[in-house]
Amino acid sequence: MAELRDLYQQVILDHNKNPRHHHRLGDANHTAEGNNPLCGDRITVFLKVEDGVIRDVGFEGSGCAISTASASLMTTAVIGKTTAEAARLFDAFHAMVVDPDARADPKTLGKLAAFAGVRGFPARVKCANLPWHTLHAALAADSGRVTTE
Ligand code: ZN
Repeated sequence: MAELRDLYQQVILDHNKNPRHHHRLGDANHTAEGNNPLCGDRITVFLKVEDGVIRDVGFEGSGCAISTASASLMTTAVIGKTTAEAARLFDAFHAMVVDPDARADPKTLGKLAAFAGVRGFPARVKCANLPWHTLHAALAADSGRVTTE
């Protein structure tokens, strides 16, 4: 498990230990459930979208450190953004963790760049991507369900 230690950077540890926006939203108008059976990660993403802007976001679920930290960082990244901006972040994040030629743009990704280290660990990529796929499903419909399989 030595390679995993390299992935667990400070920001990931912090967000796993103290996840931000880790709660259900009572007034959510978009939700989706995500499931990563390979690792056992489960997440529900709640969004309150008004006038095309993500006014509030929350998540519930249980999973490994990577999926929890990714969900937490995702919530801090998309809150206050337009749905179009959130979709662009999804694309940038996805490219960063799956595309060996993609270079993480620190300006676009901010702290999300901490997850660049999961590239090359396909099982961990699924963990890091799960919250984003779930967000994407929530934005695409009033309620949705995704799985990494
Ligand atoms: Zn996981």
